[in-house]
Amino acid sequence: MASNVTFIGAGNMASAIFGGMVHSGYPADAITATATRDATLAPLAERLGIHTTTDNLAAIEHADVVVLSVKPQIMRQVCETLRDSVQKRRPLIVSVAAGLSAETLEQWLGGGLAVVRCMPNTPSLVGAGASGLYANPRVSDEQRALVGELMTSVGIIEWVEDEALLEAVTAVSGSAPAYFFLMFEAMEEAAVKLGLSAESARRLAMQTAYGAASMAMQSDRDPGELKRNVMSPGGTTERAIEYLEQAGLRQALDGAMQACAKRAQEMS
Ligand code: NAD
Repeated sequence: MASNVTFIGAGNMASAIFGGMVHSGYPADAITATATRDATLAPLAERLGIHTTTDNLAAIEHADVVVLSVKPQIMRQVCETLRDSVQKRRPLIVSVAAGLSAETLEQWLGGGLAVVRCMPNTPSLVGAGASGLYANPRVSDEQRALVGELMTSVGIIEWVEDEALLEAVTAVSGSAPAYFFLMFEAMEEAAVKLGLSAESARRLAMQTAYGAASMAMQSDRDPGELKRNVMSPGGTTERAIEYLEQAGLRQALDGAMQACAKRAQEMS
């Protein structure tokens, strides 16, 4: 029988995950989601067939897994109301909240719990996420496999064995969709200067990023080799890449990712 999974909070991130679970065949009947308002929940219940309620305590009564998916600012208060019930049943706790350590969550819930921390990114909302996962030592192999199954329904996963590495995950995937969006903005502006319409430039740039990522994912060659394959000596791509290297693109990305990881550390 499928494990009962309860989501506390049914916003963007939670609905992406349970939507992905249902679409990949997880029994809707084993999923419960809560929110503060019935109006948020009714369409989810209707569309996906999951259980919904505004009563967090009732929702976790039979849960094997509790996914904490409310905003970090209200997490403490929510955990404290769940505390007694969680201590009785000791379900696996999964948190998708940015910046809250497994230890902090465990303390707010009364201690002694198996906790998985997950750092997803926004492309999870379209099933193309990349999530980093960390399990505290109380998490069993079966529980790891279950969380892996849940998160794989919205994209790829990578486990890290040291929680601090979630800061690196934040730099390389959590915050990184924005780096690519910045590139799209900049490429569109440059293409407009070259005479294309903004709309054409945007379509071409996005499809090219998608194509480059698909190609790199399907190839057994490393990105450096794929790059060199596009660069004919004396050609157009070589000229562009030389310019990007001289302009310091590598250093800029290095600095941005160091700054991002540092900020993640300060926040946790
Ligand atoms: P959201 O605002 O879309 O959803 C929050 C949900 O929590 C809503 O359904 C709301 O009704 C519910 N809620 C509020 N108070 C509640 C309570 N007391 N009990 C039960 N439910 C309650 O937020 P989101 O963007 O889905 O973010 C949720 C978590 O996911 C955050 O902790 C965030 O750090 C994390 N996260 C989000 C993203 C993202 O791309 N959206 C990425 C990474 C991590």
